[in-house]
Amino acid sequence: MLSNELAARRQLLQRNIQANKLDAFVVSFISNVRYLTGFTGSNGVVVILSERAVFFTDPRYRIQAAQEVACSVRVVAGPILPQVSALLHRVKSKRVGFEKSRMSFEDYQILKDSLPMRSSLEPLSGWVERQRMIKSVEEAAAIRRSVQLNSKAFEEAIKHLRPDMRESDLAAEIDYRVRRHGAEASAFETIVATGPRTALPHARPTAAKLVRGLLLVDMGAMVDGYASDMTRMLCLGRPNAQMREMYNAVLDAQLAAVDAVRPGIEAQVVDRAARSVLSKYGLARAFVHSTGHGLGLQIHEPPRVGKKEKTPLEAGMAITIEPGAYIEGVGGVRIEDTVLVTQKGCEVLTPSSKDLRVV
Ligand code: ZN
Ligand code: ZN
Repeated sequence: MLSNELAARRQLLQRNIQANKLDAFVVSFISNVRYLTGFTGSNGVVVILSERAVFFTDPRYRIQAAQEVACSVRVVAGPILPQVSALLHRVKSKRVGFEKSRMSFEDYQILKDSLPMRSSLEPLSGWVERQRMIKSVEEAAAIRRSVQLNSKAFEEAIKHLRPDMRESDLAAEIDYRVRRHGAEASAFETIVATGPRTALPHARPTAAKLVRGLLLVDMGAMVDGYASDMTRMLCLGRPNAQMREMYNAVLDAQLAAVDAVRPGIEAQVVDRAARSVLSKYGLARAFVHSTGHGLGLQIHEPPRVGKKEKTPLEAGMAITIEPGAYIEGVGGVRIEDTVLVTQKGCEVLTPSSKDLRVV
């Protein structure tokens, strides 16, 4: 990550801190720490002060932090937060923000007990996450690479489909291909569900043998820190009329939702587009989740593309579009692409065909 891009992210946050009359902001959520400093390790806290930023980590990350982090680095043995407090003492911070939905109660108490008298801890929510919603050119490029790799791994993995496979065998094949193509990891636990198990939207792969009928694969890669997310449907043997109808309904809904994506509209408008198509097919109640979600350094991040979500879409947001329909005892269908909101509408990044693949 370019150090001037990281500095620009911190400056935006500093403007926000000043506008809200805070003296410091303790960022402890590791994805946010990465976003602001470039640090890819698992233990670090960054304190954003009005003019500078100080990053804290432990001795395991001494070398890595020196390579990755452009702001000033403090390597501390033992717990980090007392050292954070010591810094806040030194710079005489009075109003200190913290991430209320990210910091544990225990850490909050350590910080609270060690701050100077008359200092206050101010609970903040979503400050860094709001910045993260809009991807820079560089971030969008990483997501694009992630999506490309993910689709390539999918195409290869399904060439190895065998009728005697278990769900977990196909999931392992997918994970292997994702890693072999250079991803750091899968973006989440790969979902492979066969037959009636496709009705479980978040099925974990089991030792169940693949059966005739629908097969759902939901997979993602992490490439240079950025996630991709895709769901595709296959059918082992010829699909029956009900499977075809469900597939066509979900595909119509998916295309309608993609069509609705453009800057300026609230995210709920996209969700509604998918829902109204599924209603026409009598599948409104079979659609049990949101139409999509933002993704980036995390597989799920704001905005949620769901009912009542008022966040306006903006160019540079990366979101998924993934309506589905699930009928207990029968099965389910979900079709998911990763898309980028553009100035005029959106670009579907996922290159994989959305035909129902009969194998
Ligand atoms: Zn997915
Ligand atoms: Zn998803």
